[in-house]
Amino acid sequence: MNRRVAVLLVLIVAGLAVIAWPRLEVALVPSDDAQLTEALSRVPLAEPGAQGPDIVLIVLDTVRKDRVSPYADDAITPKLARWASDARVFDQARAVSSWTLPSHASMFTGRYPTEHGAHGDSLASGIDAHGLSPEVPVVAEVLSEAGWATVGIAANRGYLRAETGLARGFHAWLADSLRPHSLEVPYPEGERVTDLALAALSAPRERPMFLFVNYMDAHMPYIDRREYYADPADFPAVRAPFTQSYAATRATGVPLDPVVSTSWQQGYDATLRYLDDEVGRLLEALPELGIDENDLVIVTSDHGEAFGEHGTVEHGKDLYDESIAVPLFVRGPGFESGRDARLVDHTDLPRWMLDAAGLPHLPGMVEDEVQLAELHYTRHKHLADPVLRARYGRVLRAYVAEHRKAIASSTGDAEVFDLAVDPGETRDARAEAWAPPLVERLHERFEQLETGEGGEITHSAEDLEHLRSLGYVE
Ligand SMILES: [Zn+2]
Repeated sequence: MNRRVAVLLVLIVAGLAVIAWPRLEVALVPSDDAQLTEALSRVPLAEPGAQGPDIVLIVLDTVRKDRVSPYADDAITPKLARWASDARVFDQARAVSSWTLPSHASMFTGRYPTEHGAHGDSLASGIDAHGLSPEVPVVAEVLSEAGWATVGIAANRGYLRAETGLARGFHAWLADSLRPHSLEVPYPEGERVTDLALAALSAPRERPMFLFVNYMDAHMPYIDRREYYADPADFPAVRAPFTQSYAATRATGVPLDPVVSTSWQQGYDATLRYLDDEVGRLLEALPELGIDENDLVIVTSDHGEAFGEHGTVEHGKDLYDESIAVPLFVRGPGFESGRDARLVDHTDLPRWMLDAAGLPHLPGMVEDEVQLAELHYTRHKHLADPVLRARYGRVLRAYVAEHRKAIASSTGDAEVFDLAVDPGETRDARAEAWAPPLVERLHERFEQLETGEGGEITHSAEDLEHLRSLGYVE
């Protein structure tokens, strides 16, 4: 072989290797279906378990309450509204935080973020997150020990991967390894989440199931859903990443361009219409799968999304209602259909699940009629702690009692709102006679919380890139 031919051969082999390498990598990752099949093989489905209801908890990540029917005037989510017409619809449900990790941990533990330990600073670096304290009991653990099959399917792999501790108690947990929609959209789309959920529920079994499902479609970056626009002509030819718009807004001090904000809201609404189709497909299939009025089905969101109100966009930045008011629909024994104006939050969910299962409550679960919410880094009790302020910037704590809400900041400021007359939280009511006692009660209530210690979550370069693409890291 002469030298020229040898070089050519080497180049051809190298070229083939380059072409084949990515395919080889993809081939090594099992498909989502194969992963589910493998995960279900670890669930003791065939063994007789408890006698009790199936429990389905569906979390629509980043879905703000006022864009969902029946809360919204326009029927943007008609399938959800139809299902909710037979559900208890909570009008005053709030998240315990405005980002994914602490909210989900409260849904699983019945405790506030300070107590369960799964929280952190989601704004400054995106890397200072802590997982669920191993000391804190979780509902999936109790259910699995009592004979339930426990399966979790989470599209939000950024903050729901097993390392956060949220997979504890689940026989099967699919999150990190699910295939993203695309390079630009790093999460699986609703259609596949619904397919996986239906496949899990369809598996023949001799015991009730606790199924947790998380959908990410309403979280930016959005998948191109131009066919779901009210007017497809509104689909923008060029879309600057939302975070870039936000960064520019902050850098220049110029408020978010209303045209940009409207454009993103249209994109958001389109994803909600798509999500309604997919969640509707899951909800409508439940009766055929034997899940009926004797079983418990909960649909909620982990937090909302801001579009320029109070000067912010996205979530995880404040505790105003566009960020923490959430939809909450429940069908099951004890949940009569109709509207319910009681103050409920994510810490109520595990209690409802355990009541439905006939199991005792978890130790340390919250049992009161006020709402607390926390942001950001909440491992310290004292908002005025100078170390806390220097290291983590601003910590916010919100307290809602009846129709009044206080938000206290580690900067020493507090804002107070009367939600009955000012649901948009635009008129600070600090001067009202009832305001100082409300702020005082906020501080007293937070002082009562026990501090939970979650382990620090480490992020690989790939994890960081993933979080960056979701807007958590700037
Ligand atoms: Zn979330």
